[in-house]
Amino acid sequence: MEMNFESILLPGIDAKRPLVIAGPCSAESEEQVMTTGRELAANGVKIFRAGIWKPRTKPGGFEGVGMVGLPWLQKLKAETGMYTAVEVATKAHVEAALAFGVDMLWIGARTTANPFAMQEIADALVGHENLPVLIKNPVNPDVELWVGGIERIYRAGIHKVGVIHRGFSSADKTIYRNVPNWHIAIELRRRFPNLPIICDPSHIGGRRDLIQPLSQQAMDLGFDGLIIESHCNPDAAWSDAKQQVTPSALKEILANLVIRDTVKTTEDLTDLRHQIDEIDDKILEILAKRMRISGEVAQYKKENSMSVLQAGRYDEILTKRSEQGASMGMSPEFIKEVFEAIHAESVRKQMEIINQ
Ligand code: PEP
Ligand code: MN
Repeated sequence: MEMNFESILLPGIDAKRPLVIAGPCSAESEEQVMTTGRELAANGVKIFRAGIWKPRTKPGGFEGVGMVGLPWLQKLKAETGMYTAVEVATKAHVEAALAFGVDMLWIGARTTANPFAMQEIADALVGHENLPVLIKNPVNPDVELWVGGIERIYRAGIHKVGVIHRGFSSADKTIYRNVPNWHIAIELRRRFPNLPIICDPSHIGGRRDLIQPLSQQAMDLGFDGLIIESHCNPDAAWSDAKQQVTPSALKEILANLVIRDTVKTTEDLTDLRHQIDEIDDKILEILAKRMRISGEVAQYKKENSMSVLQAGRYDEILTKRSEQGASMGMSPEFIKEVFEAIHAESVRKQMEIINQ
């Protein structure tokens, strides 16, 4: 579906990267909202985020203060001039947020993963075409589900759409709370070059010390903005305490970012890109040759009634090649992934031949 996105920038917010949205994971009390918000405003933050309704993995946790928190945001806005943003997951949330003058909505990762919920929100948004809406990636690394969510909101007449990249659930233990899988956000950029991408290093990292490097990575990838959880007293936060930073720590993180905005292609770069194109041609030729030979192996296996998968051989290839790759200065994980992909395709092709 063809989508022509409009700018999500609200009046008075300049287009300079990064667009910054900051505030606590959850609104907890009027005092916490006002104290955090005042400090953020003094540090130049123009959009205040706070969760009012919190989707929790298990019942019994802090599920957000609910409606009582909305007047706090209104008060902060009146006093500081900051715009406000909250997460919505139902029609009732949308209606309540709009009734209290919330300026921007975002849709959480668990909600984007649910098409019924997305459609309910989209229907509730009809008639509010001036409202910017940010759509977080679904919890699972499924770019189509993310695009589907974007389309539902767009079809409701909301064209001021942006996305938030907050990482993905994974069964593997990693340093991240949610693995970044940057290539999924990059794929979205490839398909929709005008769709603003905001990175959420707080939910990707899950840890204070990862906010800076993740924010820098997002900027280096050309993302448009950052949504960062900030709390006046992070250790005492009622949700996501480990990943929240004080407004002054946030100020420092932002001041340390290096923003590289040059897109001009220099002569040197043209030459280097040429070399890369030639190497890619060679990689393709060699891969095709490998697949042809693998086909001949399949023919041999068929004639000699051998099984396609020779586990010992597979193990040998993976181990040997990852070690070799490491000795050549590449990451063994990367080489393992490459060879796993080549091997999977090779096995698929051999099965085809053997079953012919
Ligand atoms: C949040 O922004 O506080 C939140 C609940 O995030 P996510 O939907 O990314 O888990
Ligand atoms: Mn949070």
